[in-house]
Amino acid sequence: MSAPYPWQAGQWGQICRNAGDGRLAHALLLHGRSGLGKHAFAQAVAGMLLCESRASTGAVCGSCRGCTLFRAGNHPDFRAVSPLEDSTTITIDQIRALIDFYTLKAHYLGPKVVLLHPADVMNRAASNALLKVLEEPPAGATFLLVANAYDRITPTIRSRCQALAMDKFDDEIALAWLAATVDDTAAAADLHAAFQLANRTPLGARDALAAGLPRLAGQIGLQMEQVARGRLHASQAAQRCAEAAPALTADLMYRRAHQLLVELPATAPTDSIGLRDALHSQRLFKFIDAVTEVKGLCLAPATYRDGDLLDMLWRAWMQAWRPVPTELQR
Ligand SMILES: [Zn+2]
Repeated sequence: MSAPYPWQAGQWGQICRNAGDGRLAHALLLHGRSGLGKHAFAQAVAGMLLCESRASTGAVCGSCRGCTLFRAGNHPDFRAVSPLEDSTTITIDQIRALIDFYTLKAHYLGPKVVLLHPADVMNRAASNALLKVLEEPPAGATFLLVANAYDRITPTIRSRCQALAMDKFDDEIALAWLAATVDDTAAAADLHAAFQLANRTPLGARDALAAGLPRLAGQIGLQMEQVARGRLHASQAAQRCAEAAPALTADLMYRRAHQLLVELPATAPTDSIGLRDALHSQRLFKFIDAVTEVKGLCLAPATYRDGDLLDMLWRAWMQAWRPVPTELQR
């Protein structure tokens, strides 16, 4: 068995080597932004640790008692902890239940594995309770903490864990996986666009492609150029993407403005995109301020209608380019 996803091969190899040498830390902190497949990776690590006839390479046998029970989702020496339904946090009661779990003798000879996902939503009391357990780990205990935000795990807990950054990988490996996974008619440019839109996460990019985001981003970028040139009015632009959610539109417009800002050369004249004149940075900053405000409004449901929010976004963009710069009036 190998890592669940090809871009995790390095981390997988490290875990397997450590487990093989008996040097695996009793607590691992797998961290990295959402969309990297960290949970699947942690599940695979748990399965590997619970296999009773694991190969020295870390490959599970797939047929032992441990493998069978784990696959069926009822291995007695495994616990998965996530926020309960209707909750966004992991509570102290859930951590206390783990203490009971560790007090009982292991059913089999292997370790007792706990997977906390996402571990960065533990409330303070839960964090403190977990810290106590990590400070004096029960024999055979292995904790797998999965976190999107490393910074939201308290430093004291971090100091008790071996951290594993899951966002270290070669983009080409992720893009090759993406190309092989999605509809083969997807253009390479779309794959790259989806990957960037999804913060360079392969699973996020797969979802972005399925939702048609690269095409929408392209349409929005084109409309932004037309509005900036005075060829399209803000209200027309808002109507043309009326199907898109305001929060998504705000995000895509923000990204495009940010991208234009990053691409601004110090002195080069305008190019075919037409928005790259260095003098335009102020306009872009002004728009980024405005779109950030609208993003906030999108988070407050039922305050504004979707149509009004879209209007605000496109008007803000149009305002940023009024009057239309002469070099764009072509
Ligand atoms: Zn096995």
